This record gives sequence, structure tokens and C-alpha cells, in this order.
Amino acid sequence: MTPPLADRVRELLEWFLVNRRNLPWRYTRDPYRVWVSEVMLQQTRVETVLAFYGRFIEAYPTVDALAAAPRHEVLASWAGLGYYRRASMLHAAARQVVEVHAGRFPSEYDSIKRLPGIGEYTAAAVSSIAFDEPRAAMDGNAYRVLARLADDRRDIRGAAPRKALRNLAQRLMDATRPGERGDFSEALMELGATLCVPRVPRCDACPWVSSCAGHAAGTAPSLPVKAPRRPPRRTEIAVVVIQYDGRALMRQRPPDASIMPGFWELPNAAGLAILLRELGMPADARLYSAGTFSHAITDTLYTCHVYEATSSGDLPDGYRWVALAQAREIPITTISAKALAALSLAEPG
Ligand code: SF4
Repeated sequence: MTPPLADRVRELLEWFLVNRRNLPWRYTRDPYRVWVSEVMLQQTRVETVLAFYGRFIEAYPTVDALAAAPRHEVLASWAGLGYYRRASMLHAAARQVVEVHAGRFPSEYDSIKRLPGIGEYTAAAVSSIAFDEPRAAMDGNAYRVLARLADDRRDIRGAAPRKALRNLAQRLMDATRPGERGDFSEALMELGATLCVPRVPRCDACPWVSSCAGHAAGTAPSLPVKAPRRPPRRTEIAVVVIQYDGRALMRQRPPDASIMPGFWELPNAAGLAILLRELGMPADARLYSAGTFSHAITDTLYTCHVYEATSSGDLPDGYRWVALAQAREIPITTISAKALAALSLAEPG
């Protein structure tokens, strides 16, 4: 007898083969093109991506072409898609593929995940779609579909329910036959995007209607449960743009930093006095206020006070002078990009 999970996979794949939308990235298993489409689709509607994907692939048909392009040109090609950090990371990762992997896109999940800007979801999507690796890709659509399938009524932001749903997705993936794993990844996302949509799932057309616990219990429209977020923690930080001879003082974050490892950043600290002390500058150093902006990272809202100063060229420990023109070519933290933009020295990240 066929195990139930294999039945679910078969039902989903049969539905997908007949009902999948005609999208240009569905015609390729080229990892570079799959990766570009996955990055573009993050937080962006399919209709918007459709207007950009073809043009981008035409401009940069291979990972080598993308790596060879100047960063500002890649960012310009991204104009209109938003979330420019994605383009910046895409470009940095393309350069790493060329430099570290001799231009061959890595074929295993772990190697893919080590590229800049690639998290668990994208690594799983690319490795399953392009390389048929049995890795379940969990985006918001997949979590919603599986929370309903299992009638999991716990807060979807909790670690335990997320782990349970990831396990369910992985068991489904493990029940998928070789050669069909990419289709399974795409099918699960497609079901969430077209039928198992938020609030009003179209269960009547769903291939899982007879086995869906959330549908049977009548809970599906209200799943997944999202408990109200706690108000964000508020933190003030000081960021200073110190210039010398057309360059800005910057440092590179350690490779094992939990946030933005390897990114470059301007001097910043929890307060101006601390920052001046760290830089070995006198407490009464002449600084000019260049404005304030807010920036949210996970559950923290940073109020960033930007200051400007000139320097005689002394280099504090751990810092480098980075030519402002070069600051457009290297990955820099969003806060630093916004601080440079506040002084009209670079575009925001
Ligand atoms: S039956 Fe309804 S709730 Fe269940 S997976 Fe299908 S569309 Fe979603």
C-alpha cells in the first residue's frame, strides 16, 4: 500500500502539472536563473517580478556576466523591484561563485547556503529545483498550507510549531521520488499562492481537500495563528561618517557575526560618547549632526543619529579608509548605507 505521505505528494504533483502558472523561471533548471527568480520573488508579487526577470536575465545571462558587471549597474537594473539589499547580495554572491567556485554554481545545499545573502529557504529552493536535492523549502506560503493541512493552531511564530511544520514538509519531500523534488518545491509554493491563500482558501479546488485537517475542522481560514507582536525594543545608536581625502572610515564585521557577517560598516555605537571613546577621539571632538533615521532589525527599532567629521588621517584599530566610490562596490550594512545616503554620499541599501 502507498504510504499516506507519498499519496499527498502524488495528489499535489498531479494538480501542479495541470494547474501551474506559466512563469518564465519554470522553464529552466539552471541554478543561476532559479536563484535569480527566487531572490526577486522574496517579498515581491509575481506580477512585478514578471516585468523584471526577463530583462535582468537578458542583461546578465550567466553568473559570470552578473559578477563582471559594476555594482551600480546591477542596482540600476533592480530599480523598481525595491529591497535593494537583495541586488547587492546577489551581486556579491555572483562574485563569490566566480572567485571561489570557478564560475560553477555550487550544487549542494550547504555550499549554496554559504553564499552571501542566501538563507535556508533560498538554498533549499535552489538545491531542490536545480539539483533535485531532497530539501524542503519553507516560505510563508508553505508554512500556511502545512499549518492548515495539519490543523496546527499554535502561534506560527513559535519555534516548536515552525519546527513541526518544517519536519512535515521534509517528510513530504522525503516521500517525493527522485526527479520530482523540484516540482514538489514549486507545487507547494504554488498551492499556497493560488488556492491555499490567506483568509479565504479555495478548498473546493484543492488536491488535498479530503485529507486536510484544517478544512475538516473548519479552522483553515483562520490558520496559521499569528499572536500579536510585542512592541519593538527601541534603541538609539550613533553613527559617524568620518572623511579623509575622499574616503570614509569603515570596518568589516567579523565573518562569524550573527548579523550581516563580513559586511562593512561605519563607526557606530550605543551612544556618541562611547563611539568617540572607541575611536580614540576627544570627548569634545567637532562633529556635525547630519540627521536622524529609523531602521528596524527583527524586533528592534533603531533610532540612528548620524554625525559627520573630518579627520587628519589617523586610523583607529580595526578600521580602514574606504574610497567613497568603492563603498558602492562592497557589501555594506543597511544602517551605514542609510547614513551615507543621509550625507548624499551613496544610495541607501
Ligand atoms: S484544503 Fe483548503 S486549507 Fe487545506 S490545504 Fe487545501 S486549500 Fe488549504
